[in-house]
Amino acid sequence: MRTMRDTGLASMSFEPGASVPQGVIPLCVPKIVGNEWQYVKECLDTSWVSSVGPFVDRFEETLADYVGVKHGIAMSSGTAALHIALLAAGVRPDDEVLVSNLTFIAPVNAISYAGASPILIDAEPNYWQMDVNRVYDFLTNKCVWKDSVLRNSATGRRIGAILPVHILGHPVDIDPLLEIAERYQLPVIEDATESLGALYRQRKVGHLGAIACFSFNGNKLITTGGGGMVVTDNDEMAARAKYLSTQAKDDPVEYIHGEVGYNYRLTNVQAALGCAQLENIEDFIANKRAIAKRYERDLRSVSGIQTMPHAEWAESVVWLYTILIEPHECGIDSRQLMHGLAAKGIQARPLWQPLTKSPIYSAAQSHSDGVAEILNQKALSLPSSVGLTETEQTSVIEAIHSLCN
Ligand SMILES: *Cc1c(COP(=O)(O)O)cnc(C)c1O
Repeated sequence: MRTMRDTGLASMSFEPGASVPQGVIPLCVPKIVGNEWQYVKECLDTSWVSSVGPFVDRFEETLADYVGVKHGIAMSSGTAALHIALLAAGVRPDDEVLVSNLTFIAPVNAISYAGASPILIDAEPNYWQMDVNRVYDFLTNKCVWKDSVLRNSATGRRIGAILPVHILGHPVDIDPLLEIAERYQLPVIEDATESLGALYRQRKVGHLGAIACFSFNGNKLITTGGGGMVVTDNDEMAARAKYLSTQAKDDPVEYIHGEVGYNYRLTNVQAALGCAQLENIEDFIANKRAIAKRYERDLRSVSGIQTMPHAEWAESVVWLYTILIEPHECGIDSRQLMHGLAAKGIQARPLWQPLTKSPIYSAAQSHSDGVAEILNQKALSLPSSVGLTETEQTSVIEAIHSLCN
């Protein structure tokens, strides 16, 4: 029987501002130990609290520098960043966009906001990322290339973009995808929200496609409370992203607007938090990697648990350390383990329901073969906060040893 405590804990989210109950080990909460207070105080002392200000500019510049791209355009959320990136990359109503099936729903919703439809691409079983072979197969065998436009043979609609999501801190194997995208002149929009700082073959995630998106939600590697950013080397896309996210002003004095724009700006107060967080990013990444290393070392021996895979061509930031549970060998399945951990005050979470199973996208087109479903059944993400202590991690590891046979 489930206790009140465990059902509550599994569904609780500990965001900045929410206090974590004593003795509870949350899944992923931020660490505020640097210049956050000082920078936010500067905003309050100077009254620069709203959607322009020196910290917004500085956050855009320093994050773009960190990723190695020319432009950063701050947004109010990662989801807003994805919406704007799709529009800036030229995705139009009635287009179709290839996107990962195993992901948090935000990028797929953003495709809907743009008036386009998703084509859900399965995960590959090795690293759980978008299966680039399926992208290749879909574009070469299920589409027709005519007059420099690629169309889905089944629907006749234009393919507008490819949107790979680098999940859990690990990059998608993107080179083959970039190659096929170039052949058909498709923009690649990276959802890099979970993988800030990760490297793909020595190149920074977020600097691999035409345009990329980051999120600074409370559970991400660095946080602004809530926020996001679009990054790109492309001057035109950058200008478009800025224009569309600031109400599409053609003349700010006379209030002349040429298009439907959005108010997706980040405030100076949020950006102040972001600037301070970014100063500690190398430590945060080192912490995530140390946490991953210890889980790997101490959970490898548990029969029925597969530790998190890591490609040799990748340097993951291991945003959420995630294991797979084989119920026959473990004696319990992933959800039973989740509730068992919750009863001990430890928060764990499954991976997302594959979008092909989601009530809202179950009718969407897909190119999938059930890999995402299997991962969804078996996967469990473990506490991975950058501030997770060794003692806390010991508790998680011991709890797993005691709950699994
Ligand atoms: C967090 C996240 C986003 C964006 O989230 P916001 O809460 O809107 O900042 C987008 N995609 C993925 C895969 C995410 O994990």
